[in-house]
Amino acid sequence: MTVVLETRNLIKRFGAFAATNKVSLVVERGARQALIGPNGAGKTTLINLLTGVLEPSSGSVILDGEDITRLPSHQRVRRGIVRTFQINQLFSELTPLQSLALTVSNQLGISGRIWQALGRDERVAQRCDELLRQFHLDDVQDQKVSLLAYGKRRQLEIATALACNPRVLLLDEPVAGVPEGERQEIFDIVNALPAEVTVLLIEHDMDLVFNFARTVSVLVNGALFAEGDVQSISNDPRVKAVYLGEGTPHG
Ligand code: ADP
Ligand code: MG
Repeated sequence: MTVVLETRNLIKRFGAFAATNKVSLVVERGARQALIGPNGAGKTTLINLLTGVLEPSSGSVILDGEDITRLPSHQRVRRGIVRTFQINQLFSELTPLQSLALTVSNQLGISGRIWQALGRDERVAQRCDELLRQFHLDDVQDQKVSLLAYGKRRQLEIATALACNPRVLLLDEPVAGVPEGERQEIFDIVNALPAEVTVLLIEHDMDLVFNFARTVSVLVNGALFAEGDVQSISNDPRVKAVYLGEGTPHG
């Protein structure tokens, strides 16, 4: 197996508090890896360090053998580290088709001519069609994002991330805040992501985690606490103890 993404002794301090504490995480190419842990464990902080939203206090982030620790976010996206956010960040006045056309045009280097491209560029139209179908958005492709059901918006977020042609896709709680009845569709989409894309998923819903992941990494108090396949993690008494008494972990 080839390692695609790796952190070495990564530390992020906020004042005296270490939100990320000496994390050495390995993600293999094509991985279906979940990052779990109680609220405040440092999951989102770790994603922020991987994507360049935050700079670590020390340690490094390696992508395909290249040290990207100090690279700005947009350069990491260009190298293929793409995330979705926990909070919706879509343009509410656009439609799903327009939103995707924007990203796809950008990827193809024709972002100056988006609206024109949407109507005339066959490559843009075709890629948008594919994405709209893959993410179950074809039925709402011409509705304003602000009018979409919340679950559909999340689907569009993941579609937008995939439109950036990621090598590594980071999903931060894709069903957080999504009504129960809209979750299954997102689960299905996450489970059907292209095999060649490496996926690191932060999730609290254990059904989703255990259906999706082959590898599970558990963070507690900023540090890697346990790691293994789904079977061993779901049976690990230490992991159970961490989650016990928490109710449904959230955050
Ligand atoms: P998780 O995503 O696992 O719920 P976070 O990574 O969001 O956890 O947060 C980990 C810890 O770091 C929390 O205690 C949180 O309050 C703290 N933290 C996160 N971001 C900041 C920040 N910008 N400044 C200070 N503390 C922060
Ligand atoms: Mg979080």
